Amino acid sequence: MESILVLTHVDEGGSALTKASLEAVTAGKELAARLGASLTIGIVAADRTTAAGALASAGARLLTVSGEAFAQPRYASDAAACEALCRAANAAIVLAPGGSRFVRVAAGVTHRLGGVIDTHITAIGGAEGVEASRWYYRQRVEAVISRDARPWFLLLDAGTHTAFAGEPGAVDVEQVAVELPAMRTTVSGLRTPMKDAQTIRPDANMLLVAGAGWTKKQPDGQTHAAEAGALILGFLHATGASLGSSKSLVDQGGDNQPVLPFLSHMNQIGQTGSTPRHAKGLSTCCHGEEPHVVGWRFIGERRAISLDSNCGWTRGKADVVYVADAFQVMEKVNALLGAAKA
Ligand SMILES: Cc1cc2nc3c(=O)[nH]c(=O)nc-3n(C[C@H](O)[C@H](O)[C@H](O)COP(=O)(O)OP(=O)(O)OC[C@H]3O[C@@H](n4cnc5c(N)ncnc54)[C@H](O)[C@@H]3O)c2cc1C
Repeated sequence: MESILVLTHVDEGGSALTKASLEAVTAGKELAARLGASLTIGIVAADRTTAAGALASAGARLLTVSGEAFAQPRYASDAAACEALCRAANAAIVLAPGGSRFVRVAAGVTHRLGGVIDTHITAIGGAEGVEASRWYYRQRVEAVISRDARPWFLLLDAGTHTAFAGEPGAVDVEQVAVELPAMRTTVSGLRTPMKDAQTIRPDANMLLVAGAGWTKKQPDGQTHAAEAGALILGFLHATGASLGSSKSLVDQGGDNQPVLPFLSHMNQIGQTGSTPRHAKGLSTCCHGEEPHVVGWRFIGERRAISLDSNCGWTRGKADVVYVADAFQVMEKVNALLGAAKA
């Protein structure tokens, strides 16, 4: 019988589990139920209390490595923590959220345990055994992987499972001792960009995508870049949406986009950009060509605003297309959002 360990860690606040960790818990519960396997959850945290309490109803054995040394992500301490949890759980299948903290250490921990690892897992299926799915070639080819080697580590892509949300309560947690190696890295603090500069928000419900049309000459023969920037940022402020872009728009000024300075190549969605997962997406001033739209593959509900009634969106690429001027539509939308907030 397989035994399953889910590795989790807390967020920057230091006590609550990250959403991606809670998604991994759901994946672990589903897999354990299907295989009739035992489930253990390992928690890496400075203070384990809140995180463990949130997992009280998960029906799993809880292990933790906690203490001040684990407050900040750092290879030496995180790898030691994960290794200790894996050895204590002695699990055959190890699931972990594929965020920056565990991606950094997962391959090293797997090597220490003599195991194998697969990354970017989007689904785990299989009637008898374990079959892990991932996508290749910019989300165009899906592979289903099964392996005999154990322990088998699977790093899960965020947004592929529902986050576990059980009734919090008091719970028994086993503290796992870790012998830390000599630390050569000291975490002295965090420097994050200004809130306004953080336009890429993978956890947002909605994705707003800006296309090159925002910087093109409009019916009055003029460009209106400043107005475009204000409309886009106004929408982001009001909704907390994430900002994506077409390649044509981010290419306009290299990485220091002079027209809409809050955009960089990191915002690009598509074949040579990213493939985000949001419940809803709104494309504005973008033509909707295939190399761009391929990045929309996992967006739940797609809407687009384009002046061109023959654009790619109207040819089956969107659920709803508004053939309209995005300047006018977004101005009205922002006004309605402002009124709703007041
Ligand atoms: C190998 C390869 C990889 C690629 N990878 C990517 C990728 O990862 N991502 C990507 O985006 N592209 C990619 N492309 C480029 C892609 O093919 C398109 O060129 C690009 O997506 C076009 O961007 P756009 O729609 O913003 O610009 P345009 O094609 O210039 O379209 C602008 C649109 O805005 C509309 N518009 C103008 N003003 C308004 C207004 N006031 N209101 C409403 N609509 C308005 C116009 O009608 C037009 O439809 C790739 C191409 C290749 C060959």
